[in-house]
Amino acid sequence: MSAPTLGNSNKIVIPTATNMVGDYWENLFTAKERGKQVVWYNGSAVNPIFQAAGLEWCHGEAFSARLAAQQLEKPAQLAGEEYGYIGELCSYARTHLGCAVLTKQAKSEDENGIVGLVDQQQLASRLPAPDFFVNAYAGCSTGQQWDEISYRVFGKQVPIFNVSLPFLPSNKPDAGYLRGEEWEQASRYVADQLHKLIAFLETMTGRPFDWDALRQNMSYIKRASELRREAMALCRAAPTPATYWDWIASIAHINFMPAGPELVQYFADVKTEVQYRLDHAIPGVRNERYRLYFDGIMNWNKLGWLSRKFADADVAVVCGRYTHNAFWQEPHLIDTEDPILGMAQHYLLCPTNHGVKTLKHLTNRDCVDYGIDGIVFHASRTCRAFTNPQHLLAKSAQKELGIPSMFFEGDVADASFYKDEILESRLAAMLEGIDVRRSRV
Ligand code: SF4
Repeated sequence: MSAPTLGNSNKIVIPTATNMVGDYWENLFTAKERGKQVVWYNGSAVNPIFQAAGLEWCHGEAFSARLAAQQLEKPAQLAGEEYGYIGELCSYARTHLGCAVLTKQAKSEDENGIVGLVDQQQLASRLPAPDFFVNAYAGCSTGQQWDEISYRVFGKQVPIFNVSLPFLPSNKPDAGYLRGEEWEQASRYVADQLHKLIAFLETMTGRPFDWDALRQNMSYIKRASELRREAMALCRAAPTPATYWDWIASIAHINFMPAGPELVQYFADVKTEVQYRLDHAIPGVRNERYRLYFDGIMNWNKLGWLSRKFADADVAVVCGRYTHNAFWQEPHLIDTEDPILGMAQHYLLCPTNHGVKTLKHLTNRDCVDYGIDGIVFHASRTCRAFTNPQHLLAKSAQKELGIPSMFFEGDVADASFYKDEILESRLAAMLEGIDVRRSRV
């Protein structure tokens, strides 16, 4: 097994006035001391609604991903295992449920609601107990069960609200991406539930909902998203000025950071940096010879490792389903004066919530737009929602575009499923195939 070097990957680092993500978590950890209510939620980015309601929010997947990226996930996973959650359960859910178990234990020992005091240092988590749960999970049944089980861990004492997000099979004649009766109906159905969620929040907080704050939040998010998409589009150039790993590095920002001028500034700075690199011929990978698409949810334990691994093989991973087809990716849908419908539509646009017809359309479209040579499928062991359609997508890219692909196993937040030798040998084989194909043209 060869360890990746440090030299070839040229990642974007945006200096900000504050450490946005670190400050966000620190702020959350002190929520109880400041007398704030805390909501735990999974799935869709309903956080602008929480922000307008004056709440503090903890996104379950984000917290698990944070622990995994810091290699701090094990204590929570062990707590989950002792409680009875098997290793084949989604590792986001398993890690966060382990945190719930530790939080519950700490709560009964010490009513401050702080995660297991003994494990506090190790977990670096200090996760405040929830005042209530909101579930808004699209395209995966684990999400609903995850919150349902959290609700039970807390003795069914903590209220829960579930936003139901219907799957979009898109198999009717008029159905397609952002169009057709299915899309229109589902959009209205979810928008209606968001109004009910807001009524629920009014009950939980005892305050009227601040609609002006929501409109303001969504105007910041819309602008941040526009800048992000514009910066992504600059990466159609070859060599690409930024890579998929750069977009991964800013997932937290677009997914659950508070909406505000700082968020807009962050993505304005990202775009400026990408444009600067383009103008000065500074590539994201120093010797780009191959351009790949990455399909699959992120392997947070291996983030730096993977980015260097691909760069060492002169591969620019340019775009992917997780980054380019998620997270406020269609900002034109957001009407900042009346944002609920556009929000509902984004919640439906989760990349696990589409039938294969739409997924093929999105993948093949991006492969053409970004000049992709091949696809890497991260077959996340415990995330079936992402993995299920991958072989069909691989076939479609091969048949429609002549693009080869490779698979490697890993997981979202459990390092034990990753096998470096498999990634290495399959990547080498695919790149060789691309070389042979090029030599014939
Ligand atoms: S299985 Fe995948 S989509 Fe489902 S909750 Fe886990 S990470 Fe999310």
